[in-house]
Amino acid sequence: MALDRKKIRALIIGGAAAVSFFMAISAVLLLALHRDLTPALKVLVLALIVIAPFPVVSTVLLFKELLKSTTEAERFATRDPLTNLYNQHTFWDLLQYETQRSKRQEYKFTLLLIDIDNFKVVNDRYGHEVGDQFLKDFSVILRSAVRKGDIPARYAGDDFTAILPVCDEEQAFIVARRIRDSLREHSLVLNDGSEIQQTASIGVAVFPNHAQDAQDLFLIAESMLRQAKTSGKDNAAFPSERDNIERLKNLGDKNIMVLDALRRRNMRIVPYFQPIMNIKDRSVAAYEVLTRIQTPDRVIPAADFIEAAENMGAIGRIDYQLIEQAFAIVRQKNFSGTLFLNLSPKAMVIADFLPTVRSLFRTYGIQPGTMVFEITERDTVKNMSLLEHFVRTLKDEGFRFAIDDFGAGYSSFQYLKTFPVDFLKVDGDFIRTMPGGTVAKEIVTSIASLANRLQIKTIAEFVETEAILGEVESAGIHYAQGYYIQHPSPDLG
Ligand code: C2E
Ligand code: CA
Ligand code: CA
Repeated sequence: MALDRKKIRALIIGGAAAVSFFMAISAVLLLALHRDLTPALKVLVLALIVIAPFPVVSTVLLFKELLKSTTEAERFATRDPLTNLYNQHTFWDLLQYETQRSKRQEYKFTLLLIDIDNFKVVNDRYGHEVGDQFLKDFSVILRSAVRKGDIPARYAGDDFTAILPVCDEEQAFIVARRIRDSLREHSLVLNDGSEIQQTASIGVAVFPNHAQDAQDLFLIAESMLRQAKTSGKDNAAFPSERDNIERLKNLGDKNIMVLDALRRRNMRIVPYFQPIMNIKDRSVAAYEVLTRIQTPDRVIPAADFIEAAENMGAIGRIDYQLIEQAFAIVRQKNFSGTLFLNLSPKAMVIADFLPTVRSLFRTYGIQPGTMVFEITERDTVKNMSLLEHFVRTLKDEGFRFAIDDFGAGYSSFQYLKTFPVDFLKVDGDFIRTMPGGTVAKEIVTSIASLANRLQIKTIAEFVETEAILGEVESAGIHYAQGYYIQHPSPDLG
């Protein structure tokens, strides 16, 4: 590529130089050979001499400009424009490169994932401009806290990373402490005299001690970052000796399966669809999308790996891959009905999850009105107000919401009060035990009438027999889903 550019430049500047040279020589020859030139011709010759250098000068200037703008464009492709640190894309390239280099040259290197604590509060309270200034300040702190040759990057939002080549736990500990200390000592002074001070949490993982490839190393650092956050923030967490053994054991079958599926190594994540039936007229009103891992010889249900995926921080990527594939099928089949999608609250609050999901909707031309997001309280959500913010934002964009497993958790009513939902999916355990179970019947009937009064539609899951369908209908539930109607299958429609 660089050689081509040089060749082109040489050819065009050479051509311009030839034109300049030809103009100058013709003028000189005219002057030398014809001493008795008419005044008009003399003016022409003078003009030729004056403008002769123009072709070559303007071409050189043009090339200088072109070079400047291509270098700038290249810089923007690899750098984050706000902080001028490497961006997420380049970070992954460099991380891959560093794992290869470290394997070849047999040295250790360390990965730091750094997250500014409660950064959202800065943005919310002072606005994005101040938030951006703080991120810029932090990028300067980060640059000066790492050594020459280390690779800091801005991963997304307030998430930063640093690759520290030839660096073991002990040295990483010193670097992590330096980052946290310099940030703690820094304050951003605003026009009104108020000061902003923040702390950071850092997750650390060392290659090859804690992982054998870039993606696993990232996952371990990510789970260490979560540990640093949950143990009170302003903290750095390293895998301990005990942790290591635990983790290696933990990175057992399920985790490895999830990682392999995400990387499409011999298995992949595929969507299955289960119809949701309108009880009144028995028509299919919508489909719920359920994740499966397809291996060469079997299909593994979500129940077997979703929890592991959530614990290892991979649920966002699973949900993303699943949505993408489900949308591809929707397009291919020209399906225009409603889809119910399970969204893990843990995935929803990840900084760039929503923008990426939104872009999927745009890419596949899917209307927000045809989508219902199911939220569960399976994992305790620490930041309810953040989740509420996401739900309300998406709701304003036209998406609809359902509370999944309603009645099974401790906070079902809290969820009902907090989130503006359109559907309640009554937990399968109540539904399945309705025939013969007086209490279950009473509970389902009360949920149905409460939802009715709130103008929320109800769905019964685990409708496994005709008898259950009868019970659900007389309890006043609107929709039914379950093995009696249809098992989840790879076919949509
Ligand atoms: P869920 O959302 O409550 O989904 C219902 C589960 O019950 C599904 O299991 C479904 O296959 C199964 N099921 C359907 N009809 C019947 C029935 O009549 N009887 C019984 N006993 N079971 C029935 P699956 O697919 O293994 O999913 C388990 C859980 O994993 C789901 O519970 C959901 O919470 C989660 N999940 C599934 N797909 C996704 C996903 O794409 N993203 C996220 N974040 N979570 C998912
Ligand atoms: Ca569900
Ligand atoms: Ca459910």
